[in-house]
Amino acid sequence: MLSATSIKNKILIFALLATLVPSAGLGLLLFWQYRVIIADNVTHQLRTLASDAGRELEFWLGKQVDGLRTVAGSETVINGISPPSVPPSGNALQSTQVLSHYLRLVQDKLDPLLELTVLDARGQVVASSAEQPVPMVLPNPWPPSAATQGVLIDLPHDDAHGDATLTLAVPVLSLDDQILGVLMALVDLRTVQSRLNYIANRSPGDVALVDLRGRVLLDTRGDLTSEPSLLEPEILQRLRTQAGQPTTFEGHRHGQVLGLAEEPGKLPVLVVAERDREEIYRAWVVFRNLFLSLLGGLTLLVAVAGWGMGRSIVKPLKRLSRAADAIAGGDLNVELPVVRGDEIGHLTQVFNQMTNNLRRSHEEVEAASHVLQQQNELLETLSVTDGLTGLYNRKKLDDILAQQLERFSRNQRPFAVLLLDIDHFKTVNDTYGHLAGDEILKNTAKTLSQSIRSVDYAARYGGEEFAIVLPETSTHTARELAERIRHQIERARCQFDGQSLTITLSIGVAAVRDDDETAQAVIGRADQMLYEAKHAGRNRVHCAD
Ligand code: GH3
Ligand code: MG
Ligand code: MG
Repeated sequence: MLSATSIKNKILIFALLATLVPSAGLGLLLFWQYRVIIADNVTHQLRTLASDAGRELEFWLGKQVDGLRTVAGSETVINGISPPSVPPSGNALQSTQVLSHYLRLVQDKLDPLLELTVLDARGQVVASSAEQPVPMVLPNPWPPSAATQGVLIDLPHDDAHGDATLTLAVPVLSLDDQILGVLMALVDLRTVQSRLNYIANRSPGDVALVDLRGRVLLDTRGDLTSEPSLLEPEILQRLRTQAGQPTTFEGHRHGQVLGLAEEPGKLPVLVVAERDREEIYRAWVVFRNLFLSLLGGLTLLVAVAGWGMGRSIVKPLKRLSRAADAIAGGDLNVELPVVRGDEIGHLTQVFNQMTNNLRRSHEEVEAASHVLQQQNELLETLSVTDGLTGLYNRKKLDDILAQQLERFSRNQRPFAVLLLDIDHFKTVNDTYGHLAGDEILKNTAKTLSQSIRSVDYAARYGGEEFAIVLPETSTHTARELAERIRHQIERARCQFDGQSLTITLSIGVAAVRDDDETAQAVIGRADQMLYEAKHAGRNRVHCAD
């Protein structure tokens, strides 16, 4: 039973392993590979996006600087800083006003400009398009590239214009390239957003400009008027140290993103290209869930099939095992139904044949044993029976007497013995022949058998002599019985060969006594009585004591 159960479990485990190991292994490999490919593709996209955005930013910056240089080289600005010694008309105050007016005009015309301010070489404001120009500190010394590329002064972060501004400065040069002062511009960074949006729209990723304190200045997905977003210092640090390498972090709009950063050379900002991590792996997750569902379904299917297969093997085995147990317990009436044509069906068939053979053998053995038992019983009977009369023989008589003496010695149960001898039997033989003698012996034996109780024993003592053992019988009762028998034999006339014969018996009676040490002592006394009966004239009963 135990091993049958384990066969079923083994089949089940094998089926599950055979399904799960290859499919799960292949699946894992596939998903790992798929994930690597996705990560590579996204990295490539993000790098391209970041570098495109960086280039666009630099291009935009270059344009702003060029515009400012043009303004800085205008006669109005130069004259505004160092008015000609003889003003063409009006005074110095007038030239400053003209300059302010000019700056306002230019600022109005050029979208990105929020404020234009001209400072003299000492850093004093000469004129500005704003009522209260943003306070600025001039670079000292000027970098060599300042004349051609301008100088980034600052990325303001807390002013009336919001975060997304930057301050540019270009020197105002005299005709002999002497620095007369500086033209400073507060530039609206948001004007670059449409360009960045255009680039970002071609890519699944987004771009954010982040300053070096982690503030998000621009975001191709976001709204700049909303609350300023901040990147965690740790994330900012990671993005800067692993520039160009993808990393996963908590994006400023909440949620995990995969992103990388590039630092354009001229601006102290990071161009961060990023993609929503969930979105990147959405298809992968759907595919994975589908695979897991399929794998689960397949496992269930295989488990059911394996269980069914195991059951189809184990069930008939159990039936066979139960039948074998029944046979071992002695029940040979076992017949198993053969319902399959496979090996188990064949095994069942062979089992049935074996059972049939066993049953037949068993029946034969039973029959033989029965005959043997009958023969034994017959032998037993024959061994204790006299062949002619059917009474007990002498040997059995000895056993009965010994047994009775034993009972008497142990329990004081008395018994009596009758010895009976046919009178003048030799003459009968001589006169009517041996066959007639045999017939008389048989008839006498029959009469004796019918005269005694079922607890008494009648035996042929030898020749024409008989003995009767009467358990629990006194001498008196034994004598009465002897008389009855004698009378009955005398009265019954034997018919033989058309002639009627009269037979008489002489009988000696004796009962057991306390001093009897052997059964022969009792028989001896009965024999003595028989002898006396013969001498007294025959056909009589003599009783000891
Ligand atoms: P008594 O009255 O003194 O007993 O005389 P009896 O003739 O009966 O006794 P005896 O001992 O002289 O003879 C016994 C005879 O019984 C002798 C023998 O041939 C005969 N006899 C013994 N056994 C058998 C037997 O099995 N069949 C026949 N037909 N005769 C037997
Ligand atoms: Mg005799
Ligand atoms: Mg005799």
